[in-house]
Amino acid sequence: MTSHEIRKAFLDFFKSKGHLIVPSAPLVAKNDPTLMFNNSGMAQFKDFFLGNGTPPSKRIADTQKCLRVSGKHNDLEDVGFDTYHHTMFEMLGNWSFGDYFKKEALEWSWELLTEVYKLPKDRIYVSVFGGDEKDGVPFDQEAYDIWKSMVSEDRIILGNKKDNFWEMGDTGPCGPCSEIHIDLRDQAEVDKIGGKELVNNDHPQVVEIWNNVFMQFERKADKSLIPLPAKHVDTGMGFERLCMAIQGKKSNYDTDVFQNTIQVIEQMSGKKYGENGTLSSNSYVDVAMRVIADHLRAVAFTIADGQLPSNAKAGYVIRRILRRAVRYGYSYLGFHEPFMSKLVPVLANQFADVFPELKAQQDFVTRVVEEEEKSFLRTLETGLRKLDDIFEQTKAAQLSTISGEIVFELSDTFGFPSDLTALIAREKGLKIDEEGFQKALQEQKERSRKDSAKEATDWVELNEGNDFEFVGYDEVSCEAQILKYRKVKTKAGEEYHIVLDRTPFYAEMGGQVGDTGHLSIGNHSVNIKDTKKENDLFIHISTDKNLDEILQNATTVVAHIEEDRRDKIRTNHTVTHLMLAAMRKVLGTHIVQKGSYQDDTVTRFDFSHFAKVTDEELGKIEDIVNEKIRENIPLETKVNIPIADAIALGATATFGEKYGDFVRVVIFDPTFSVELCGGTHASSTGKIGLFKFISEGSVAAGVRRVEAITGGKAIAVINEQLSINTQLKEVLRNNDLVKAVENLLAEKAALQKKVEALENEKLQELKNELAKTAQNINGVNVITAKVSVPSADALKQLCFDLKNKLNSFYGVLGAEIGGKPQIAVIIDETVMKDKNLHAGNIVKELAKEMKGGGGGQPYFATAGGSDLSGLERAIDKGKSFI
Ligand code: ATP
Ligand code: MG
Repeated sequence: MTSHEIRKAFLDFFKSKGHLIVPSAPLVAKNDPTLMFNNSGMAQFKDFFLGNGTPPSKRIADTQKCLRVSGKHNDLEDVGFDTYHHTMFEMLGNWSFGDYFKKEALEWSWELLTEVYKLPKDRIYVSVFGGDEKDGVPFDQEAYDIWKSMVSEDRIILGNKKDNFWEMGDTGPCGPCSEIHIDLRDQAEVDKIGGKELVNNDHPQVVEIWNNVFMQFERKADKSLIPLPAKHVDTGMGFERLCMAIQGKKSNYDTDVFQNTIQVIEQMSGKKYGENGTLSSNSYVDVAMRVIADHLRAVAFTIADGQLPSNAKAGYVIRRILRRAVRYGYSYLGFHEPFMSKLVPVLANQFADVFPELKAQQDFVTRVVEEEEKSFLRTLETGLRKLDDIFEQTKAAQLSTISGEIVFELSDTFGFPSDLTALIAREKGLKIDEEGFQKALQEQKERSRKDSAKEATDWVELNEGNDFEFVGYDEVSCEAQILKYRKVKTKAGEEYHIVLDRTPFYAEMGGQVGDTGHLSIGNHSVNIKDTKKENDLFIHISTDKNLDEILQNATTVVAHIEEDRRDKIRTNHTVTHLMLAAMRKVLGTHIVQKGSYQDDTVTRFDFSHFAKVTDEELGKIEDIVNEKIRENIPLETKVNIPIADAIALGATATFGEKYGDFVRVVIFDPTFSVELCGGTHASSTGKIGLFKFISEGSVAAGVRRVEAITGGKAIAVINEQLSINTQLKEVLRNNDLVKAVENLLAEKAALQKKVEALENEKLQELKNELAKTAQNINGVNVITAKVSVPSADALKQLCFDLKNKLNSFYGVLGAEIGGKPQIAVIIDETVMKDKNLHAGNIVKELAKEMKGGGGGQPYFATAGGSDLSGLERAIDKGKSFI
């Protein structure tokens, strides 16, 4: 079976068992403060397990793009060295939300593996949770009995808490799990040692392929477990490992999932993969090819899902993955020019019908990757030069080890990886202080952990229910009940998080900032400084102190948003839609949103575009937007319509956004702007008043950023400019400002010429005066003098003019220039030879007198200094050389 057929068979199988097949969520996790990237199939369904919201079906299956490069699941350092862990991989999964449980889940997995995929039954082992007394969770007898009816008991392994008990986090849903492992070794090896002994022992061919998690408990903050009212199933099967098993391979990289890419890498490098046998982790050519084939997927798909490489957070993780691939290519495959970007099209074609987002943005992703590669290759070159210096210093100090702090600094400040430093050091016969490096690294980790540490108490539930209503599209205040609240300790202090059953507060989402305002509770006013979305909940954040009693005793609260602020925010959001529509008209339909931000002062908008937006283009966009403002187009929204209908209306879905099946569409003139959007908007475009760009620039390769202002703020900025104009007219006494400034510049140029001519004249006079003072010493015409000249250039000019005028000339001229001493030595060629003199050496001696330094040619040299009082001494000393 090809990998395409294997994936399809999985989805078809679960469809036949009544599952709804849904698309993969984007790799980048949104609205989940505990997660940077989706790292398992269940991440997009987390809310359903927490009881927030209702799933579209009680049975769901899909293939989910996962990334395990940060946080709890981080496989990055293994990737390339082993053959079955990836950064990005596909996780095939099936879910039951309070529907079927262990029996169906396990029986179906057995049926799929052995009857559909026809994997050999005698090579499969399963595990069930053996119980944990300390935690008070019993042995999973139920799962054991189900397996016993399908496989012989000697194939069932009792697992411990680490392998067979799954928890969402410190608190929340959890439960036992049952893993399925497969032994892919040759028969001869199986005869030597049984597969059962190798399960969970890091053997590359005895691997876990599928995990069935049974969520039946909830973990409280005090660590106690309580049974969940509705029990769920969450399963995840590693697609690439499954392909290895079904295709009879010994490494994920030998399957058709990776072979395309590896073959192109072979052609590009002229090196062969697997010459030393697939498993030689000591062959760095193989490791490098695996690293590149793997990391390419992570990088390309993450960028396609909207996350650009950057200096912080998720963007930084992606940048580091890309750099890891580049340095393996650089060090072991001889790639000194961008190569990852050349592989993007190979990948895009391979996945065109599975994850079309990459094919659709192939050019964009390619260019972003290429720019990143170029800049990192430059870093590598600079790093290599820096390293040379460091090696020299280390050797000069007769040391054989490079200090861990230096290695850390190279990696932290210059992005130069420590293992590469170690490698190159080794080639030069040096070592790096690995321990010191780890210590520095650990210290930094500790610092950033402290910076981001948050500690939350359990939610205090005050009222039943988890569904809430956002009324903020129409209302600025409403009556509400507090559903729950909790206290959270952050670095900045303590915060209260409050969840209401109805709210006018918009939570930060899709670029629009969260609302501020207050909650009236009896006589109290609780200040809300921000509203954030966490999973599907709107969290009202207050930094007021000692709210417990007030919140606990609250019956009805009245929630008010700060109206004036919201008014400005929504105006800025509305103008963003108009601006995007106008940009598509002026710049082309390739303009896709890459990020946006609107608060009460500005709208900031990032978009894909490869050239600077010219002033003329910006002007055209402004004109269109301002025209649409004057048309005063009313807001039209379509709420809860199927996504297909929205697309039919002309809406463009943005990759990387997760849209439910039903969406909200915001329309300003159906022929002009139709967008999928959950944000709040002005009731008509006239409210915007005025639109003005204030900046345009580049944020990353292929991504530009514009900033714009609206309404009163735009008018204020324009007025300020006009007022500057008026003032200038007064100062210049001319109403034609351009003409006036042009005149000034012309006058300035003419004056400059005059000054130069005068200076030159003066210099000639000085030369003639000086020439008269020449003394004949031992047949040499010697002039030593302190002169008054405006610049170092003039001093030099004077020296050469004198040399041209006099024969057998030796001159030492000094001057005070800009408050500092400056000295020049000039020697005629004949004198130079006859007397064996060197101006450069002489000037160095003279410079000492004025606390300075310098140098130059044998016939002309200059020096500067810091001690003006030594200038005369230096000039005098100049004489002594003749
Ligand atoms: P392992 O112990 O092999 O790292 P895991 O216990 O971390 O696996 P789960 O979190 O249970 O794995 O994920 C479910 C399935 O996803 C695994 O059975 C495996 O097939 C697959 N999987 C997990 N991590 C990776 C990875 N880094 N690359 C490829 N597949 C993976
Ligand atoms: Mg793992």
